[in-house]
Amino acid sequence: MATGLAPSRGWASAVVAVLLLTACAPINVSQERELGLQFERQMRNELAFVYDRVIVDYVREMGEELVAQAGPQPFTYRFYVVYDDEINAFAGPAGHIYVHTETIQKARNASELAGVIAHEVGHVAERHIAENYNRSRNTQIGADVLTLGASILGGGMAGDAAALGTGLAAIGLLNSFGREAERESDVFAVRVMAGAGWDPNGLLTFFELLRHEEPRGGPTFLSSHPATADRIVATRAEIAMLDSVGGLRENDGGRFEIIQRRIDLVTGRYRLRRR
Ligand SMILES: [Zn+2]
Repeated sequence: MATGLAPSRGWASAVVAVLLLTACAPINVSQERELGLQFERQMRNELAFVYDRVIVDYVREMGEELVAQAGPQPFTYRFYVVYDDEINAFAGPAGHIYVHTETIQKARNASELAGVIAHEVGHVAERHIAENYNRSRNTQIGADVLTLGASILGGGMAGDAAALGTGLAAIGLLNSFGREAERESDVFAVRVMAGAGWDPNGLLTFFELLRHEEPRGGPTFLSSHPATADRIVATRAEIAMLDSVGGLRENDGGRFEIIQRRIDLVTGRYRLRRR
């Protein structure tokens, strides 16, 4: 999934600075913002972003409508689309949310995509990313990321080699959520989806899609986000507590389908360019 793996010494140095800065206290909002900017820079180096305005604006608009239902937020959320043929989405620090093209292509309607985005926003809004960051400092993985950063600061070939995996390690590190965090994000997603006028059953049917795909060896979608039967039952119960989902929509008058076709087109062009 990673392309153009350019070592990024500046990013690593900044992360080490933040790591050192926060070595003794939980990360605060302004530190998370700083980390978010560095994370985003690293993602630009490691992932292939979609720059097609129509596609990106569609996802951004959907994301911003969902965030608007979440109450005051300490972060300005930003939404990105990444070329990748694996169903996945992930959150970086401070509201940087990344959606793979395959997630959009596999969704059966707009509300399923809204469900995925709302769930990822939930991980940021509920401060799960910050919690993972804090916890990671006490784990071997966190120590490894620290070590990588330190070796990059030291410079030299070892540093360059070590930098290659740093960004992807950071995604895994920040997006390993426990059952309780997943549940919180699901509850959050149901709430903001309904508020934004989306049928929250989209989240549920997307889980079912994932469960259907699992026996075929994939997807590793949010591999820490298991679409367990428990989770489906809990989300269904959450939806049942809403007054009514009768007026809520699962489609947006064909706009979503146009975005899917457009991704087909730009993905074809992207593949041509990579040959
Ligand atoms: Zn999750």
